[in-house]
Amino acid sequence: MLRRLIRRFGQVQTGSDGQLYTSTKAPLDSNHPHYMPHMDYYYSSKTELPPVANEIRTDVDVDSLISRWHKKYWSSDILKIVFAIGMHSVETEVTINYPMEKGPLSPLFRGEHALRRYPTGEERCIACKLCEVTCPAYAITIETEPRPDGARKTTRYDIDMTKCIYCGFCQEACPVDAIVLTSNYEFATENHHEMIYTKSRLIDNGDRWEAQIARNLESVFKHR
Ligand code: SF4
Ligand code: SF4
Repeated sequence: MLRRLIRRFGQVQTGSDGQLYTSTKAPLDSNHPHYMPHMDYYYSSKTELPPVANEIRTDVDVDSLISRWHKKYWSSDILKIVFAIGMHSVETEVTINYPMEKGPLSPLFRGEHALRRYPTGEERCIACKLCEVTCPAYAITIETEPRPDGARKTTRYDIDMTKCIYCGFCQEACPVDAIVLTSNYEFATENHHEMIYTKSRLIDNGDRWEAQIARNLESVFKHR
């Protein structure tokens, strides 16, 4: 389009005397190196222009030129662009200003892990090890010991978060909803050591996110 525009402007030029001059319009000649099949004439270079005196045009209709430019360029491409910009400016923004703004998350979102406790403070986990054997990434390590009442409890519950693939199988396997994947996804660290989650850290996570975990589980149970 730029080349066509330049050619168009090349038709009429203002001389040093303020008069309008035209550049050379040569007749159609298919052998000329500047010949273009889609035009009925070509413009030669300035060195080929005939003497200016012979090229003074007194019949240039500026209004018709402007009208032609308007029809050909302004009323088509430029108007389309202006229209498109206008449409985009009134559209609802799809970007959000993270981390100040956050998008909605599904209750099924699988983020950071947590171990839950009952409202009394008692650990939910009964050390059945179902989560450990279900984990396809061998990310969970559990050690247990018997309780005074004959039940069992975990003495060690580690999750290597760098092995975890966030499949959620541990949560699905747990019979007491003890191990869950929360909606928290902001737990990036700078080293591997911090990604080994211990039992105390998992329980802290459970206490921290319990309200949200309970809401998510309740909304998921409705559809089971
Ligand atoms: S989410 Fe999957 S990979 Fe991660 S600890 Fe649970 S079972 Fe293992
Ligand atoms: S977290 Fe659940 S599945 Fe895993 S050992 Fe405890 S009770 Fe069993």
